[in-house]
Amino acid sequence: MSKNTSDAPEALQLRFDTKKIRGAYNPLEHQNALSVPIYQNTSFDLESVRRADEIVHNELLANLYTRVGNPTVDIFGARIAELDGGAAGIALASGMAAVSYALLNVTEIGSHIVTSPFIYGGTVDAFKKVFPRLGITVDYATDITAEAIEAQIVPETRAVFIESISNPLGIVADIEAIAAVAHKHGIPLIVDNTLATPYLIRPIEFGADVVVYSATKGISGHGNIIAGVIVENGSFDYGNGKFPQFSEERHWTLRDRDDRFRTYWEVFPQIPFTVRIRTVLLNYIGAALGPFDAYLGLIGLETLSERLEKQLASTRKIVDYLQANEFVEWVSYSGLPTSDNYAVAQKIAPKGAGSVFSFGVKGTQQQIATFIDATRIFTYLANLGDAKSLIVNSPKVTHNELTSSELEFAHIPENLVRLSIGLEDPLDLIDDLDQAFTVAFGKNPAPGKA
Ligand code: PLP
Repeated sequence: MSKNTSDAPEALQLRFDTKKIRGAYNPLEHQNALSVPIYQNTSFDLESVRRADEIVHNELLANLYTRVGNPTVDIFGARIAELDGGAAGIALASGMAAVSYALLNVTEIGSHIVTSPFIYGGTVDAFKKVFPRLGITVDYATDITAEAIEAQIVPETRAVFIESISNPLGIVADIEAIAAVAHKHGIPLIVDNTLATPYLIRPIEFGADVVVYSATKGISGHGNIIAGVIVENGSFDYGNGKFPQFSEERHWTLRDRDDRFRTYWEVFPQIPFTVRIRTVLLNYIGAALGPFDAYLGLIGLETLSERLEKQLASTRKIVDYLQANEFVEWVSYSGLPTSDNYAVAQKIAPKGAGSVFSFGVKGTQQQIATFIDATRIFTYLANLGDAKSLIVNSPKVTHNELTSSELEFAHIPENLVRLSIGLEDPLDLIDDLDQAFTVAFGKNPAPGKA
């Protein structure tokens, strides 16, 4: 089991950009290889019966079987935990696995989850089709404010789940206020930090207990892997009586040599959340990330800050262009001083509100379709956070699972188009949008290019 090393004094002094390249890895422990090796192994030599005994009784943290742990995959998870200031991180096969496992870790039949209207369509659909079938109900706050969330909390609530920057509207959540409310009720705040990445927002610093990622997006940044990560803060008290699954002596996996049952508290007091994910959900449901994909994630992570800085600068230019465009009804970007969400964004994401945002096209569905089809540099697809710029009509693609009333509740109008700004020259991106508007509307947008 690889655990992050941020509590080592030398690691604490490292800054973000050093950690993103060197964190959670010591070449001397890996044949002196400077780039993290791809451990393309299913299983690891147990060496001797005595050593195997030590491993299965958690006396020795060593690799056993890639479904539950693999060095390349573990370094990826641990490095992101270092970037987030977490106690431990675990990488998984997808963002949806990260969202589901994090929530299933704190819920059981009869449990309840509170969430906000502003979440990814796949998560909404899981809340509708998967969780209720397991006896876990979900209620939506009417807004992403602490008050609205608190109003939905009931005695059975076991988690508050929000997105730090929402997909597709780019709304920044007041993590600090929402964490305070969750803690008042003895429940953890789980934050999906996919759109922000640890570069823009570190939710644990604002009180979040668990951070989840689709590492498919900005973390890896090149649209070439499906991956997820869960990070825990190491300080939430899962022994407060609401989470018996953490302290019931029923996990044979944690037994000692005399076959005495042991709780998560006894064996891993600092990182019970992550160990339970690994030993229960990853072990038995099995959404294990492959080592090669973890390697690609690590390579992508090395340029996270550089990519985001350029993407933020380009996003601002493109937002300005769209705001001045006669075919655009509205622009939803929390980094705009005119946004209702600007003050919260300044507090939670001072570097910038991300490179994903939405706007409303002032036109018919046919004109919107023509506009999207006419773009030549923007690629029309259902991903975000790529080095390449992307365009999508969210209500019909990424949020197509939502009914029309659910779309209305989530503030996703029919004319919404989402952009994810990549690393191309922003002037080429503006030219591309400009010519696509001309194709769709038959005339040049006024007042012209920004
Ligand atoms: N969370 C957010 C905010 C997302 O945008 C997505 C995917 O679009 C996911 C989770 C799911 O991630 P994945 O596609 O890696 O399973």
